[in-house]
Amino acid sequence: MKGYIEIEKELCKGCQLCITFCPKKVISTSGKTNAAGYVSAQFEKSDACNGCAICAMVCPEVAIEVYRE
Ligand code: SF4
Ligand code: SF4
Repeated sequence: MKGYIEIEKELCKGCQLCITFCPKKVISTSGKTNAAGYVSAQFEKSDACNGCAICAMVCPEVAIEVYRE
């Protein structure tokens, strides 16, 4: 199964939990601050994402949507 995610960068608080817990290591820090001043996470467009949704489950801000293909 393949998947991809979208991170709503304005909801992200830069806690990096999604980066830590993604088993495929396809989320990284964007290095860019959002309007609230947090350095948001970004999805590294990659076929490795399997749509497991762990990132969405650990995100305290509910900033991640997961899609499966
Ligand atoms: S759905 Fe799974 S593999 Fe894809 S980015 Fe989230 S945690 Fe990583
Ligand atoms: S878990 Fe959510 S709030 Fe934390 S860095 Fe990832 S997207 Fe941002």
